[in-house]
Amino acid sequence: MKSRGLAVKDPKSALEPFEFERRELRDNDVAIEIAYAGICHSDIHQAREEWGPSLYPMVPGHEIVGSVTGLGRAVTKFKVGDLIGVGVFIDSCRTCPSCLKGLQQYCENGNTGTYNGYERDGKTIAFGGYSNNFLIDADFAVHVPKNLDLTGVAPLMCAGITLYSPLKHWKAGKGTKVGIIGLGGLGHMGVKFAKALGADVTVFSHSPNKESDAIAMGADKFVVTKDISALKPLSRTFDLILNTVSAELDISAYLNLLRLDGTLVVIGLPGKPYSVGAGVLLGARRSMAGSQVGGIPEIQEMLDFCGTHNITSDVEVINADYANTAYERTIASDVKYRFVIDARTF
Ligand code: NAP
Ligand code: ZN
Ligand code: ZN
Repeated sequence: MKSRGLAVKDPKSALEPFEFERRELRDNDVAIEIAYAGICHSDIHQAREEWGPSLYPMVPGHEIVGSVTGLGRAVTKFKVGDLIGVGVFIDSCRTCPSCLKGLQQYCENGNTGTYNGYERDGKTIAFGGYSNNFLIDADFAVHVPKNLDLTGVAPLMCAGITLYSPLKHWKAGKGTKVGIIGLGGLGHMGVKFAKALGADVTVFSHSPNKESDAIAMGADKFVVTKDISALKPLSRTFDLILNTVSAELDISAYLNLLRLDGTLVVIGLPGKPYSVGAGVLLGARRSMAGSQVGGIPEIQEMLDFCGTHNITSDVEVINADYANTAYERTIASDVKYRFVIDARTF
């Protein structure tokens, strides 16, 4: 299948127009005409090799929404014209204990990323969603509710599920106090989901100008963290804190905000290790945990939840030729709150 999109050729180069060939349609595949592709900070980390060696040329993009244009012979899950979503991985081993539980994000044999690697055959480069079309095994794609504004749906496929999953796992809801660090693509979805689940939500942000947006999204409180001493009065008041910051952070200062048995979940992936004081953990039986996107059944559950509660991402829709500027603005925390590329402009 012939495709057009954007690619980076090496860690130092900008995104450039790129024409390439995707593999043939297999029996369990769906072919997709992409409508929108979100820009996740993970795209930037990988395009620039901030997590170790990357595979080039790279077509980034793992927040994909579009419609089905073709079906392999064995596909019954979708029909032509269906709205469809694709996220961070396109396959997994399907047989390990994690996969059998529908937790493909924790596949013990490694799931297959949507880009920056090879497909399961070990030789076909996986090209991502900054392009006009896509091919995926139907088992790894999900149905998108028809009532949602499609411009804000693509980011649900990574930013959305990445916050929904830990909020559910650590049982955020009525009577729990949740903190979200960083109001970016991931963080703003966390505010919306935590609110919809009934939790009391505080945003920790180093950008004072985001306060009114945070409150409009449903936050009960907004704490400016430019001066870290602002955290002191909030000591021992949170049940759950989700750290979505893409840069290094004084994690101990936030651990101190947890009540007895509270949990801080690491979600941002800055590439350098955090330094944690042991005393702050054992002083209130606190936990520090991690969470990575979500499995296919939970992604479908999250999209259905979005359909019921009318939740989408707040987006700036851009043309493909603005993507390099969008990268710079994302790094500068100047995104409201996710850039989404209109796939007609590739
Ligand atoms: P993003 O849109 O750039 O948001 C990150 C936010 O972090 C910024 O908006 C900013 O919020 C805050 N921030 C940035 N630099 C900071 C600094 N120097 N000090 C303090 N705060 C800072 O990025 P994203 O797409 O939401 O991704 C966030 C991180 O999660 C990335 O590292 C990404 O790779 C990772 N990620 C993880 C998973 C997973 O499965 N665990 C999935 C997707 C992405 P304020 O302006 O409000 O402070
Ligand atoms: Zn992502
Ligand atoms: Zn597996």
